[in-house]
Amino acid sequence: FPPLLYVLLPLTLSASPLQQGNVLHCICHPQWEEISVMDERNTPMRTYQVCNVMEANQNNWLRTRHISREGAQRVYIEIKFTLRDCNSLPGVPGTCKETFNMYYYESNNANLWFIKESQYVKIDTIAADESFTQVDVGDRVMKLNTEVRDISNLSKKGFYLAFQDLGACIALVSVRVFYKKCPLTVLNLAQFPDTITGGDTALVEVHGVCVNASEEFEAPKMYCSADGGWLVPIGRCVCKPGFEENKDVCQPCRPGTYKASATDAYCTKCPPHSSSPQEQAVECICEKGFHRAESDPRSMACTRPPSAPENPISTVNETCVTLEWSPPRDTGGRGDITYSLHCRKCSGDGKKCTPCGSSVHFVPRQIGLSSATVLVTDLQPDSNYSFTIESQNGVSDLSPTPRGTVVINVTTSQTVSVVLKERRSKDSVTLAWQGPERPNGAIVEYEVIYYEKNQREQNYTVLKTRSNMMTVDGLKPGTTYVFRVRARTDGGYGSYGGEIELETNVLAIGDPNQSTILAVSIAGGIVLLIFLVTCFVVIKLPGSRTYIHPHTYEDPNQAIRDFAKEIDASNIRIERVIGAGEFGEVCSGRLRVQGKREIYVAIKSLKAGYSDKQRRDFLSEASIMGQFDHPNIIRLEGVVTRCKPVMIITEFMENGSLDTFLKKHDGQFTVIQLVGMLRGIASGMKYLSDMSYIHRDLAARNILVNSNLVCKVSDFGLSRVLEDDPEAAYTTRGGKIPIRWTAPEAIAYRKFTSASDVWSYGIVMWEVISYGERPYWEMSNQDVIKAIDEGYRLPAPMDCPVVLHQLMLDCWEKGRSDRPKFGQIVTILDKLIRNPASLRELKHTNKSTEFHNREDPSTPEFSVSTVDEWLEAIKMGHYKENFSSAGYVSLDSILYISVSELAKMGVTLAGHQKKILSSFPHKHRQSQTGCSCEEFPH
Ligand code: AMP
Repeated sequence: FPPLLYVLLPLTLSASPLQQGNVLHCICHPQWEEISVMDERNTPMRTYQVCNVMEANQNNWLRTRHISREGAQRVYIEIKFTLRDCNSLPGVPGTCKETFNMYYYESNNANLWFIKESQYVKIDTIAADESFTQVDVGDRVMKLNTEVRDISNLSKKGFYLAFQDLGACIALVSVRVFYKKCPLTVLNLAQFPDTITGGDTALVEVHGVCVNASEEFEAPKMYCSADGGWLVPIGRCVCKPGFEENKDVCQPCRPGTYKASATDAYCTKCPPHSSSPQEQAVECICEKGFHRAESDPRSMACTRPPSAPENPISTVNETCVTLEWSPPRDTGGRGDITYSLHCRKCSGDGKKCTPCGSSVHFVPRQIGLSSATVLVTDLQPDSNYSFTIESQNGVSDLSPTPRGTVVINVTTSQTVSVVLKERRSKDSVTLAWQGPERPNGAIVEYEVIYYEKNQREQNYTVLKTRSNMMTVDGLKPGTTYVFRVRARTDGGYGSYGGEIELETNVLAIGDPNQSTILAVSIAGGIVLLIFLVTCFVVIKLPGSRTYIHPHTYEDPNQAIRDFAKEIDASNIRIERVIGAGEFGEVCSGRLRVQGKREIYVAIKSLKAGYSDKQRRDFLSEASIMGQFDHPNIIRLEGVVTRCKPVMIITEFMENGSLDTFLKKHDGQFTVIQLVGMLRGIASGMKYLSDMSYIHRDLAARNILVNSNLVCKVSDFGLSRVLEDDPEAAYTTRGGKIPIRWTAPEAIAYRKFTSASDVWSYGIVMWEVISYGERPYWEMSNQDVIKAIDEGYRLPAPMDCPVVLHQLMLDCWEKGRSDRPKFGQIVTILDKLIRNPASLRELKHTNKSTEFHNREDPSTPEFSVSTVDEWLEAIKMGHYKENFSSAGYVSLDSILYISVSELAKMGVTLAGHQKKILSSFPHKHRQSQTGCSCEEFPH
């Protein structure tokens, strides 16, 4: 504590008590004289003096009147005096003294006029530090001594002081009596009063009182030390809610701020959506429409109930339905959203609904769901339900506005009725059935399960089909099987229809009955075949479907109705143009179908002023695409035919067409990634060939790539397949064909098969590995046809694994039956992916890419003898001068040419550099690689 705070308070004695004359007064001995003298500043002052040095046996007393101690236990006495040095006094006897004694006597009586000498308690014998040697009254220099003594443990009302002279020469100038106290102070918002210090040793314990608008946090106390200082502060007060500390006082929070708790240090700004118009706010008041839950801290923004859940979708599985929805767009500013469901069962027309009751169960629960999904079980089949999904949060109960709700209606599926057992043979059964009369959505497919009757359900097989009939074969003769069928709609799975038992025939040689059955079967088969041929429909293995050509429909609109879903145009949001198709623009946008999440889609529209044929051709793509369901085939979402413009909606492929995509990312993928893309395309093509669909225009430009690098086969138009393709050229037979991608038999006599698609696939492989290079570069179509016919094939692109080039060459086998099937290609690529080491061996083609001659591999093709000829051959003739002026005149000289040299001579375009480096003439390379004659015997 600052020494300034040490306060010395005089008691009743002032600094000049002698002047008052009523404090010290000579009571016993008249030797003490009251005398007026001048101090060093010539100020007159009064002293008590005694100086009987010449006589022995002096005992002169001077005492004060009663001094009240005012509660102090320890009192200080400061005396100022002068004392003559005995030596300075000529001729004084040895009895001369240079000290005097000071005494006190405690008493409650303030009016004692006599106190016996023996009653006094001695305080001390006082000697002088300074003494004056000169007695020169005219020009006397006074040297004042100051001594302080204290008396402690006083307990009576007051005391008397006394001075005893035993023969000295003294002048007593002043006696100041005081005690010390610790001054009033405020510390830690507690006020400590003026406190008189304690007696001999004791510290005085003092309890503080909290200042205005504050409260005890921990009882405040301090100790007042004997010398008037405050020690050891303990505890503190804190400003009450609504007040903050400012320089030892608590002042109210200003409007717009608040303080909720006494222990918060300062007032803080009101949180969002709240305010405090008055001073001293302990909390801020929420704006209208906003609330604060009881458990919300006052510092939290005011919040409001959430908006309704969005986009509810349902997936029915027999008598269960999974409901999913998106969280509310407006969470109300809180994270504690929960959902509750209300279930009502409705009549067929949906007009009359009653609560579902306790028979319906919700997993995990009906009320207070924290995730946006629930499974509802134990519904009744073929029934309508209406589910209200309600969102709420911690302040919903405080809000008078109704809860945000969304309703979703669900119909549990009807069962499929198996109406017909169409045909039975020794190892197959044909079933036909009728779909549900009122399905709860468009039927996507049927699921047939069957098992041997005596094996019950342990070993069952599941097959899927889109049609209403299925031939299940591979069955055991003379065995009873149990079949069940259920439908899958875009709303989910329906329940299985009843069990149907069928026994396969027993075939016994020579059994006339069996022979008859066989004959009937054969006859039936023939009839069926005729039927199928008429319809252009090929029946495939169970579980796989056959592509139905839209031309087999008399009414092409029926094909559209059968295979494509009609979409309400109001659910489509077109966002931007991404390309141009033959029939109009291609845009990207979003599609919202009731009960499903919004998805990104590509939208192809038919431009205005179209003819009927154009409309048919345009929509034929949708009726083809709509028959496919495979992860590597572009998926049809639906069509808009009921209003204009007519549109085809497909899934959106973020990375656009494969050729452009690869050119843009030249050299950026690993071989495994490239093989992964090729695998996808092969898998899609396998699916198409299994469905007996022949693509005819398989090329990288007709493959689309999505954001996950998944490649999907697209472009399924009819007339447009080839008409639309800018690569397609008229052949001598009149058709338009993309020559570079097409197998020779298809070019020559339009023999398009899955095997010709395999040829095109080989070209796509080459395009992929060379990052979108144009097959056969700038060669003319005629040259390509000629070269292929002579047995030449595209060389391996730069850095192409040997195995991949081998696979390409296999796809380009002249005999179409020698080419691998798509199924085999998928298997080969899968093996390569599983064993990446197999891809390590590269075709060493970093500088050369000879054309392979399948018939005579040693025969060089495109042999050239000068640099100019070579540059002309590869359509780089415009660089002739660059080469000659750089000194490259002979073919030999270009062997070790590098990219940087090319750049130096002015060939700066990366594409041209690559082309030049990768197309050194065959003959030239052979001689340059220094191969021995043994290696190349020809
Ligand atoms: P098409 O008429 O099918 O050849 O389409 C023309 C162009 O539109 C294509 O080359 C693509 O760039 C683009 N395109 C077509 N369909 C889609 C799709 N589903 N996703 C993304 N882009 C597409």
